[in-house]
Amino acid sequence: MKYLSTAGQSPPTDLLTALTNGIAPDGGLYLPEKFGQVPSTTLSKIKDLPFDQVARIISEYLLGDDLTSAELDELTHKSLNFSIPLCQYQQNVFGLELFHGPTLSFKDVGARFLAHLLDLLRKKNRKTLYILVATSGDTGSAVAQGFLDKEGVQTVILYPSEGVTPLQESQFATLGRNVHALKVSGTFDDCQNMVKSAFLDPELNRQIKLGSANSINIGRLLPQVFYYFHAYGQLPGNEPTLFSVPSGNFGNLTAGLIAKRLGLPVRGFSAATNINDTVPEYLITGHVRTRPSIRTISNAMDVGDPSNLARMEYLYNRDVSRIRKDIVGSVHSDEETRLCIREIYKSTGKILDPHSAVGYLGIESGLLEFGAGPSTFLMTAHPIKFRETVEQEIDSALEIPEIISSVLSAKRQVVSIGTDLSELRDFLIESKET
Ligand SMILES: *Cc1c(COP(=O)(O)O)cnc(C)c1O
Repeated sequence: MKYLSTAGQSPPTDLLTALTNGIAPDGGLYLPEKFGQVPSTTLSKIKDLPFDQVARIISEYLLGDDLTSAELDELTHKSLNFSIPLCQYQQNVFGLELFHGPTLSFKDVGARFLAHLLDLLRKKNRKTLYILVATSGDTGSAVAQGFLDKEGVQTVILYPSEGVTPLQESQFATLGRNVHALKVSGTFDDCQNMVKSAFLDPELNRQIKLGSANSINIGRLLPQVFYYFHAYGQLPGNEPTLFSVPSGNFGNLTAGLIAKRLGLPVRGFSAATNINDTVPEYLITGHVRTRPSIRTISNAMDVGDPSNLARMEYLYNRDVSRIRKDIVGSVHSDEETRLCIREIYKSTGKILDPHSAVGYLGIESGLLEFGAGPSTFLMTAHPIKFRETVEQEIDSALEIPEIISSVLSAKRQVVSIGTDLSELRDFLIESKET
């Protein structure tokens, strides 16, 4: 399969190049040049299968050209070996729990799959790959876990000295081995700029092979397509569902659009956001007005310039009237989100994290736009990851999962650096020599 750039100025490339580049040379994002069709016989086969088996079946339609059957078996079985249960909330309302991976957010799906996929494709090329990621929290831990102990890979996580929670920091800074935590005396934007300049630095690129694993990587997007099929497989009946997707950079929602393109029966999508509403506004006005992000309690969705909008527009030939036939926007304040956590807890005893609550709230607009029927909201994080907010609303203490308590008590290994590229360069070149 060839991969095209959404900006249309770079030549089509192969999968491995798309994975290691992350972003196309013309600044666009990669997408497969064509999509297969999943036949209805396959749709009935995936009913009630576990997640890794659904992923194996659907992977054929996305990666069947590039990997052998045995490789696809290994990839899906080893990287997607956790459950993604669908849980009923009300008559015809379901929550898809995407947070049962090792770092308790849905980002484990993409990060683990990308790490295993790169490992498979690079078997013949053992020059050490340095994966550089800037993170404001969840991405760093999922990527670090995904690449932990992968042969021939060193993972370098850059994070701002303020704004990352102690739990998030512990999730990537206590791993050691091939994972390096660099605490940058600056903001998340500084971290991101350092990573970008590292990729453009000729001297550094002569000395070491850099790779990207940020959320725009096509290797993180593709596996997210699988769980939309898995949701369908777990729904009672065969009616097309509505998906409400709590969104920031819009990778998750874009994966849903690809699932629909492959033939998954979907009534429509609700693009549920906090007040960072660039995409919902675009769906109304037809104009993209990017802006600085605003801090909210669902901070993994505080994005003012969502990169995957480029893919969404590309998939619909940049025709907003066609996009509107599949997606409706739904914007929710922190107040509404808090109220939702409280009310759901009172009425069902179930606990939503702030992102999943935005997803729940998005259902209403979806029903208004696309009509009655089953509705599925995506649950992107375990409530423990947003403990303070959630405990305030439910007014009781959350149980701490074992996986978290062991991480919190482990020793952190952190290197502090400034915001100048030279410090990152020195770190990388020194670590190469040792
Ligand atoms: C990253 C993240 C999101 C946003 O996902 P996108 O694919 O960027 O839209 C939502 N919820 C949580 C918990 C996240 O970590």
